[in-house]
Parts: sequence; C-alpha cells; structure tokens
Amino acid sequence: MEEHKEQGWGFSTQAIRVGHHRTPEGEHGEPIFPTSSFVFSSAAEAAARFSGDQPGNIYARFTNPTVRNFEERLAALEGGERCVATASGMSAIMATCIGLLQSGDHIVSSRSIFGTTTILFNKYLSRFGIETSFVDLTDLAAWEAAICSETKLLFLETPSNPLTDVADIAKLSELAHAHDCLLVVDNCLCTPALQRPLSLGADIVVHSATKYLDGQGRCIGGAVVGSHEVVGEAVFGVLRTTGPTMSPFNAWVFLKGLETLDLRMQAHSRNAQQLAEWLEQHPQVERVHFPGLTSHPQHLLAMNQQCAPGSIVSFSVKGGQLAAWTLVDATRMLSITANLGDTKTTITHPATTTHGRLTPEELSRSGIGSGLLRIAVGLESIEDIQTDLACGLDSL
Ligand SMILES: *Cc1c(COP(=O)(O)O)cnc(C)c1O
Repeated sequence: MEEHKEQGWGFSTQAIRVGHHRTPEGEHGEPIFPTSSFVFSSAAEAAARFSGDQPGNIYARFTNPTVRNFEERLAALEGGERCVATASGMSAIMATCIGLLQSGDHIVSSRSIFGTTTILFNKYLSRFGIETSFVDLTDLAAWEAAICSETKLLFLETPSNPLTDVADIAKLSELAHAHDCLLVVDNCLCTPALQRPLSLGADIVVHSATKYLDGQGRCIGGAVVGSHEVVGEAVFGVLRTTGPTMSPFNAWVFLKGLETLDLRMQAHSRNAQQLAEWLEQHPQVERVHFPGLTSHPQHLLAMNQQCAPGSIVSFSVKGGQLAAWTLVDATRMLSITANLGDTKTTITHPATTTHGRLTPEELSRSGIGSGLLRIAVGLESIEDIQTDLACGLDSL
C-alpha cells in the first residue's frame, strides 16, 4: 500500500520519506540497527528465511533494516526497481562487474572515468580475462566501433571529471541495446537530483555515496541501482557472498544526506554557475569548462539531460603549472584536496594529483593541461569563494 502512495510523490518527498517502515516504538527519525545478526522465532522460521521462502532479516552482511531504508530511498530517487548499497563507490563498480561478467567478456568504457575505475578495469579485471577498450566519451562513432561480439557492458560518467564533457545517455543506451549490451552510468557527479540515467534508457546506475549523497564529507559508501533481475539478483548475490557491505551507521548518514540532496545540488549548481561566469571573464583565465556556460561544447545537451549544471568547474590559467600552483597556494579558505561533493569548496591540480600517474601523452590526449585547475564548488557564500580565488588570480 505504501508503494502506491510513494509512486505519486515528488522527488523531495521521496528523498525525505521513502523506506522508513516505522517500528512499534513510533520513532519519527530513521532508526539505526547496529546488529550483525537477527533472531528467528522458531527453527521452521529460520529454515524459511534461509531458503528464501520467507523474506526478512538474516545477517547484516546482506540484510540490515537501516541499509535497506537507504536502498529503498535511493532506488525511488533514481527510478529503479532495486538498489544494493555497498561499502564504497569502488565496491559498487566491482560488484557490478563481477555480477554481470565472466572470463572472455569485454567492456567498452569512456576514457574519462574515475582513475581508480580505470585501474580496476586494466589491472584487476584483465587478470580474470575481462578486457576493456577505452573511447572518447563524446564520440558516438568510436563507441560503436569499439563494440565487438564479446562486449557486454558500456561504462561512462557524465559529465566527466575534471573537464565536464557530456555524453548523450539516450543515444548510448540505444547503441548498447542494439548490440545486446547493458549501459552502466556512474551518476556520482550529478546524483538523481540533477540527472536520472535510467529514465534515459541506461540499465544500471552506480554511485559513490561518499560524494554528494552524503554531501558533507563524512562517510565512504556506494550503491548500484537497476532492475530486480540485474541488481536484485546478480549484483546482490556478489555482495552477499563477497561482503563489501555498507554499515548501518553509514547508511543512516546517507539517509540524512538524501533528505537535503535536491536543495544542496541546486545550491551547488547556482554557486558553480556564478563562479564559472566570473572566471570566464577573468584576464588570467584561458578557458573554463562548465556545462552551464553557453561556451561549453555540449551546453544544450547538458541542459536537456540535466536539471542543473552541477558543481564541478575546471579552468586553465595562463602560465601553466607554475601559475596553477601559485593560485592553489594563494588560497586561504578553499581546501586543497582531491575530494568533491562536500559543502566545503575544494581545489585540485589534476595533472599532478588525480591524473599524476598519466604519461605526458596520455595527459595531452585527455586534455588535462598543466595549467588546469578543478574546483568542486561548495556551499559557502559565493562572494567568499570568489574573493579567495581573486587574490591568487590577480597576483599572476
Ligand atoms: C569517488 C568516485 C568513485 C569511487 O568512490 P569511493 O566511494 O571513493 O570508492 C567512483 N566514481 C566517481 C565518479 C567518483 O568520484
């Protein structure tokens, strides 16, 4: 019955109310269940739970009410049948791959993905006979050309990080399905508040909950969202057996994060838009990458596919690495860290940090120049973020 009521709810209502099945205590806030196991009223009930004949809690590696509360809420927000929560964003991607692929299978992936995901594909999955081809995120013909009869998954992030290139999710979904592949979208940067890949045809959404779902830099977590068959069985089975489970405490923090997700993502995007426009007219700035600017190559697609541009603003300064480092070191408030998805604004120099392991050729092919800086715009007063950058920029 509750399901019916929830179907008509708006995004923020779902973000605040889905998934809490109130206990006889009548608690208003979502309870945390810090318990590793659950007890049964009889031997017959224990047997029925273990056989799957009766639904219910068994053991917190794969059933915990607080974690399930988070899963139900995120599934509703992404518009998916089922969500499985994981210990981290990386374990969400790993569980998806292990659940759906076997030796001999092939992945086609965007080249512009989270660095650790590249390492997972290249160094670890390859050991088990799963090969990956990398293509330019926005080059549809390259995606098509890379697909072969062994290809089972297409994998991407949009917008990309740090350059904010935007892929056409609907077109790539069609391409995937025409070749009997599944499309996996890492929706970490937009969250369902700004972009719902499943409604555009994607099959699976993966998340690093560590970023905007938490939103305040507290916990590590992840999630996979999709159909009952793919996520509820294949991915859940891997989680149940291999154990990279989300803790109930972290699930509770993410639940609280989801309640303000829409408000925060709109505010992040407003701050980022204002900062990007200001940077674009600054004489020391060569180029700004931000989907909300009309100068962005996929501006129209981004505005069609997303509700708002998001919080990642990258820009290159004149003067290469020396100027970029000078600007980073001149900041007094911004946090010098590679993390993102926090209320606190962060600044990083990708070429020497997140992308520091790339060769000079790989860097130039990825478009990550020595003068490029990435800002994950937080929720401080925008005037203060601008003032902090203005000091350094004016000194260049
Ligand atoms: C951080 C991140 C991940 C990995 O998530 P963890 O929670 O750190 O394991 C995956 N994808 C993207 C886009 C990320 O930003």
